[in-house]
Amino acid sequence: DNATLLSHLCSVDESLGGLLSLAFDEASCRSRFESAKLLRPLNHTPSPYLLEKLRSYEALHRKCGPNTELYRESIRQLNSNLSGGGPTECNYVVWLPQHGLGNRMISITSAFLYALLNDKVLLLFFPDYMNGLFCEPFPNTTWLLPSDFPITHMTSIFDKDPNRYGNLLRDKILSNDMNIANASIPLPAYLYLHLVHNNNDYDRMFYCEDAQLLLRQFSWLLLRSNQYFVPALFLIPMFEQELSLLFPERTTVFHLLGRYLFHPSNVVWGHVTRYYQAYLANAEEILGVQIRTFAEVDLDRHSSYIMNCAISKNLLPSLDTKDVAALSDTIRVKPKAVLVTSLKSEYFERIRDAYYRNATATGEVIGVYQPSHEEKQFTEKLDHNVKALAEIYLLSLSDSLITSQYSTFGYVAQGLGGIRPWLLVRLDDENLCLQSSTMEPCFHFPPSFECKSRREMDLGSVVPYLRHCEDKAGGIKLF
Ligand code: GDP
Repeated sequence: DNATLLSHLCSVDESLGGLLSLAFDEASCRSRFESAKLLRPLNHTPSPYLLEKLRSYEALHRKCGPNTELYRESIRQLNSNLSGGGPTECNYVVWLPQHGLGNRMISITSAFLYALLNDKVLLLFFPDYMNGLFCEPFPNTTWLLPSDFPITHMTSIFDKDPNRYGNLLRDKILSNDMNIANASIPLPAYLYLHLVHNNNDYDRMFYCEDAQLLLRQFSWLLLRSNQYFVPALFLIPMFEQELSLLFPERTTVFHLLGRYLFHPSNVVWGHVTRYYQAYLANAEEILGVQIRTFAEVDLDRHSSYIMNCAISKNLLPSLDTKDVAALSDTIRVKPKAVLVTSLKSEYFERIRDAYYRNATATGEVIGVYQPSHEEKQFTEKLDHNVKALAEIYLLSLSDSLITSQYSTFGYVAQGLGGIRPWLLVRLDDENLCLQSSTMEPCFHFPPSFECKSRREMDLGSVVPYLRHCEDKAGGIKLF
């Protein structure tokens, strides 16, 4: 009713300064309305230009999205198997998943920014085990690719796809400077962009302006990625002005777009709020610790490394190991909470035991918690993904974060939370604890050539606003 609507419109808090449209049914997505109460307020205000752009994107998505006449029209064009006519009124980017949830969320964000910059509509191909994790981000429409989409082999579209842009370029069927309306041979009705980490330089031509001019002429682009390729978009001259208007503060891209796009479904939100209220709400301060190991490590050594990182950076008090009878401060009742997330429980146990068996040098009391330990990554199970998303979200509610090198799971938590994490980085056999220069994720596998000359180039050192990542040698991030 009008009164409720009015109270929503007046509530700047829930809309995160206008970032979120409130034209949604509250019951269907509680996190959209409640997350502002748990998360710290956005510490970076979105630019008016971004707000305007998001509202006009929402209108475009409503106009062209599934179940519209224009969508059906575009599907007919796709079915006719001819690009011929060039771009239509509605043009689409269809995102395909690769790897775990963190990888998915950073690449969805990149694909969304890509769609925004090109006035294309973003649709997601979600396998069953992804459905039910997120609410719809755009009002009165859906971002999910309809199940009757005519390309039926979506799960197997990969590097062998005959419409792979990089291969068509390599085989000279496409060239970046062509006008497809004048093509002498029939061109495919869609192009497949293979943007996963181990693609080649032909695929990576995508990050060049010439390619963008060509790609604009196709109304259906299918894009599979596990990367945060946003930093590379900033190097494409035609997007430069638009990006500076959208993000006067460059290092807020993921923070703002992530908070805009990703609203946990009620099922996930139930996990987040129950856990938060039961274990974290009473804490004076929360330290999130995300432990992800990609190789075998010695548990004791790795646990001490994590504890040393926390203690040396004053994120946790040191232990009073000399006096076994030392007592904690009984007057200060509020504990500090450490939220550990990991596939394993051993790190959590060691940290918890350390603060159980010893008092702290400051007299503070430390509670250590871990919501789940799934032992292994099961990306193809919905229930597993529900826990993963809930834990990413819980981490983002922390006051400070320690995260693991390379881990996109950690990137999403730091980005949503607007936190510059302390990174556990192993370099030349040395265990470092480095604070990330920004809250932005790292683009792990960027192109390494200059677009015009195709000569080798290190993109981490050509412009002041891109740097190498602290946790990945060849990676780049916005600065
Ligand atoms: P990355 O591999 O660390 O870059 O992160 P991804 O999120 O892409 O893939 C890791 C996947 O493993 C997650 O999506 C989860 O499915 C699982 N996983 C890893 N760490 C955790 C954790 O701490 N908690 C939970 N619940 N799942 C985790």
